[in-house]
Amino acid sequence: MKCWVTKSGYKIIRVLAGRSNVFLLTNGEKNILIDTSTSYLWGKLQRRLGLLNIETIDYLVLTHSHFDHAANAKRIKTKYKPTIVIHKNEALSLSRGEMAIPNGTLIFTTLLVRTLGRLIPKSLLEYTPCEPDLLIDSDYSFKTIGFNACLTHTPGHTKGSLSLIVDDEIAIVGDTLFGVFRWSVNPPYADNRNTMINSWKKLLDTKCLIFLPSHGSAIKRSLLKHNFRKIQKIDLGQKSE
Ligand SMILES: [Zn+2]
Ligand SMILES: [Zn+2]
Repeated sequence: MKCWVTKSGYKIIRVLAGRSNVFLLTNGEKNILIDTSTSYLWGKLQRRLGLLNIETIDYLVLTHSHFDHAANAKRIKTKYKPTIVIHKNEALSLSRGEMAIPNGTLIFTTLLVRTLGRLIPKSLLEYTPCEPDLLIDSDYSFKTIGFNACLTHTPGHTKGSLSLIVDDEIAIVGDTLFGVFRWSVNPPYADNRNTMINSWKKLLDTKCLIFLPSHGSAIKRSLLKHNFRKIQKIDLGQKSE
């Protein structure tokens, strides 16, 4: 399992990779799990947590309520007894176990949502509902349990997307960034693309050097900066035309 160590000595372990990344932030005593992946990976997720000797989880942070992030929340709640944290704008979706299809951000995904979006059976996007314990409105610090780590609101992919800033060094960003392509950090889907680009600015306002997305590999600050500037230039160009 890939692992990053921050300046305070916290470990960020990528417990699951591939379909959707799941990260564990640990200081050896307390554990914060970030996202849960899809339902069919529940067995693998349990086995991996077992290999790490994780018996209890203090907090489960959900970056947002899409099924590929929140599907195992209820099972984790039952087995590891965490406090479940989510932004207040995502609470209803989580407690209903459902999600709306976001808009496309690329020509291909925009067309896909417009043509096939309505044909996708609702059941494919549904998951076991789960009641959250702690609803975030603005920033939320984990100092009380010994972490220099803070949740911050980075909306755009969804209204209540959250990112976890660890040691002002590494950010775990959910679907606010996309790590599948080497040259682009642009997620293929977002409720509001412009709001999401503003959230990129918010991430760049931290000192973080590494951004860990839910899909794909770690993103360097330089690539995020490059993409942000490029999009700003395109948008400014379009406005002046
Ligand atoms: Zn998503
Ligand atoms: Zn996702």
